Amino acid sequence: MEEILKNLPEKAKDKHKENKKFFSKLRKKAPKDLDRQMQEMHQEEFSRTNCLDCANCCKTTGPLFTNKDIERISKHLKQKPQQFIEQYLRIDEDNDYVLQQVPCTFLAADNYCLIYDVRPKACREFPHTDRKDFHKISNLTIKNTAICPAAYNIVEEMKRRMKN
Ligand code: SF4
Ligand code: SF4
Repeated sequence: MEEILKNLPEKAKDKHKENKKFFSKLRKKAPKDLDRQMQEMHQEEFSRTNCLDCANCCKTTGPLFTNKDIERISKHLKQKPQQFIEQYLRIDEDNDYVLQQVPCTFLAADNYCLIYDVRPKACREFPHTDRKDFHKISNLTIKNTAICPAAYNIVEEMKRRMKN
């Protein structure tokens, strides 16, 4: 996995143009069963990829925290929301709460998440490859192919399946 993660940004960069073109066509004409196909590709990919061998999203980007996330996690940590914000979060250029630092403070050495049951919604959903209308988040997805080996593989599989 280490080798895969090391080479991923370069591989994603090489595919950038091709991926832009692919998603631009897909946005104009998406297959009717896109949601079903995405569910299938997502499940196939994550039956092979074990996030515990990777944790690259937790190490390099980190999620944004909604108010609900902050309430839930601070309660779990027996903190006041404001205390939690001051200790772990900052406001980014889009006015969202994000981690003060990466790797995420809640990532343990064995790649387990220390707040797994109450983790932010964005962590639960990353890399969003099983969401509805997947073609509508193409810019984010292209960015994620440089971070997430599963997202990279899923986009490659999409191109194979949907030669458009
Ligand atoms: S909260 Fe957990 S899942 Fe989310 S980035 Fe941190 S360690 Fe990863
Ligand atoms: S979601 Fe992607 S980047 Fe995050 S741990 Fe799983 S494979 Fe790695």
